[in-house]
Amino acid sequence: MKNLGRYSMGVGDRFGHQAEAQLKAIIDAKELGVDITPVWNKSYREHQIIHSQPSNTRLKADEAVKNLNWKENYFVDADHIGIDMVELFIDSSDFYTIDVADSIGISPENEDLEKFLSENKKFVGELELPNSSLRIIVTEKTIESAGKKYLTAVKQAGKIYRKIEKLKGKGNFVTEVSMDETDEPQSPSELFFILSAIASEKIPAQTIAPKFSGRFNKGVDYVGDVERFKKEFELDLMVIAKAVEIFDLPKDLKLSVHSGSDKFSIYKPIKDALKKFNAGLHIKTAGTTWLEELIGLAASEGDGLEMAKEIYSKAFERFDELCGPYKTVIDIDSKLLPSPDEVKRWDGNKFAQTLRHDLSNDKYNKHFRQMLHVSYKIAAELGDRYIDALNKNKEQIAVNVEENILERHIKRIFPVE
Ligand SMILES: [Zn+2]
Repeated sequence: MKNLGRYSMGVGDRFGHQAEAQLKAIIDAKELGVDITPVWNKSYREHQIIHSQPSNTRLKADEAVKNLNWKENYFVDADHIGIDMVELFIDSSDFYTIDVADSIGISPENEDLEKFLSENKKFVGELELPNSSLRIIVTEKTIESAGKKYLTAVKQAGKIYRKIEKLKGKGNFVTEVSMDETDEPQSPSELFFILSAIASEKIPAQTIAPKFSGRFNKGVDYVGDVERFKKEFELDLMVIAKAVEIFDLPKDLKLSVHSGSDKFSIYKPIKDALKKFNAGLHIKTAGTTWLEELIGLAASEGDGLEMAKEIYSKAFERFDELCGPYKTVIDIDSKLLPSPDEVKRWDGNKFAQTLRHDLSNDKYNKHFRQMLHVSYKIAAELGDRYIDALNKNKEQIAVNVEENILERHIKRIFPVE
């Protein structure tokens, strides 16, 4: 089985120009004493919007690894794939995020549900959790309701897993099961029975991405009750430790948090919990790398700034089209967006400060940031003009990208002193 390591981090790179800067942040972390396995993730949705190919993600990752002489493991993640997309990612990926959120809530076959109920009957009562005095109360109803909600999704994950296994060969890839892109969070007890079903389905999942409570909007901070998140996250860690003890699951199974980047207010509880429970973590973040590109372009003043303004102005006109595919993961109040005319008068510094996620800066505008976050399609449409601008401002952008990952994410999540 491929070793993902205790800590791993998924980074996104929409335009395929920042893999080296991203890897540099991982190398910085290693020098600070924390080993993190880098994973480059790109979803089918992103490939479609940008018209890029999975092979390009692989190429850029391999290049960065070679140029920076990285000797440790690294992966390329086929992020959020369903059964029809498997083939597209077979050559380029060695990490598969099997997304079965769409199958949640579909009633399972009677026979399957009966089997699930009889396999799990033994847990009725109090479920003890390792290294804790906490207990989860399980009733027959708990099990039945988990089965009705999630069994079909897990069965679907099994189908997708077996398809990948057939094409890729057993043990040649990391498997993640994701259920995060749905409205209703999964409780820790539901997670336990999901893992039970994953084990019965013989999926060697190394990471599991549940939906946590609260909103994980793209590129901005967590919206929700941080205390509640903390309790839920800690219980999930304990549930996973328990599941690994009793079910036939990989020993290194860990939680995967699809953060949507920049969930600063929950990073501290995550960091504390990893330490408290001596647990591993996979975190997907830094889809905001592309925003660091924009910040770098804006800060360069001149042509770069003009291009950043042009992207905003076009995005503003195409609000519904750009926001539509992301409606469950953004909250933009269009009344609080600056008008393109106003933005035209800004200098680069003002643009950068309005966009950069620095809560202590009163110019920062989260609506502006989310709007631009989903506007990478406009940059893609600029084609070579955008890529040329990236090349021209390469150094400044690389500094932003590296600093964003190291300072705002790695140091806040992982136990770096
Ligand atoms: Zn996700």
